[in-house]
Amino acid sequence: MTETLVVATTNAGKAREFRTIFEPKGITVKTLADFPALPPINETGHTFTENAVLKATTVDHATQLPVLADDSGLMVDALDGAPGIYSARYAGDHDDAKNKSKLLAQLRGTAPAQRTATFHTSLVLVKPNGQQLVTVGEVAGTILTAPRGTDGFGYDPLFYVPEEHQTFAEMPLAKKNRLSHRAKATAAMLAKFDEWWGA
Ligand code: IMP
Repeated sequence: MTETLVVATTNAGKAREFRTIFEPKGITVKTLADFPALPPINETGHTFTENAVLKATTVDHATQLPVLADDSGLMVDALDGAPGIYSARYAGDHDDAKNKSKLLAQLRGTAPAQRTATFHTSLVLVKPNGQQLVTVGEVAGTILTAPRGTDGFGYDPLFYVPEEHQTFAEMPLAKKNRLSHRAKATAAMLAKFDEWWGA
C-alpha cells in the first residue's frame, strides 16, 4: 500500500522541503496542485494555529487523506503582534517590498529596545480518523531600521537575530533553515510523527 500525505500548499519550495523529510519514510507527498477541484480554503482563524487547523481539516475532509498544513508570520511587540496572521498581505497584496516598507513606516520613531519581534510557525497534521498533531516553533529577534542582507524572502532583511549578529537575510540559507521558526516546528513535529502516523 502506498502511503500518502497531502501538504496543504501550492508553494513548490515548501513541497520540496517536505518531500525530503517524508519520502525517506516511504510516504508519498502530494500537494494542492494534485487536487485542483478542492474548494477554496477560508483562512478565517484568529491565530496561526487556528488557520493551519482550518486548512488541514478542509483538505482532509475533501481528500480523506492525512494532511499537513502550516501557517507562519511575524509578530512585532510594539505593534501589538502585527502583522501576525496578516504577514503575507500586510500592505494589501502579497508584495514583500511593500510589506517591509509598511513595517518600517509603522515602527518609525520606535526605539531599538522596543523593536522586539517573533517569527512563528504552526504546523498541523490531521488524519481522516480525526487524530491531530499540532506543533509550533518561534525565533526571537528585533526589527532593524533598514534592511540588511540579500538572501531569504519576506521580512528576512529586517529581522535581526541578536545571538547570531545577523539578519535572516545575511545568513546562508542552510543556517537559517537550522535556526528558523519553521525548522523548530518541524523538529517538534518529527519527534512525534511516527507515533501520530501509526495511531
Ligand atoms: P506562510 O504562512 O509560510 O505562507 O508565511 C506567511 C508570510 O509570513 C510570508 O508571506 C512572509 O511575509 C512571512 N514569513 C513567514 N516566514 C518567513 C520567513 O522565514 N522569513 C520572512 N518572512 C516570513
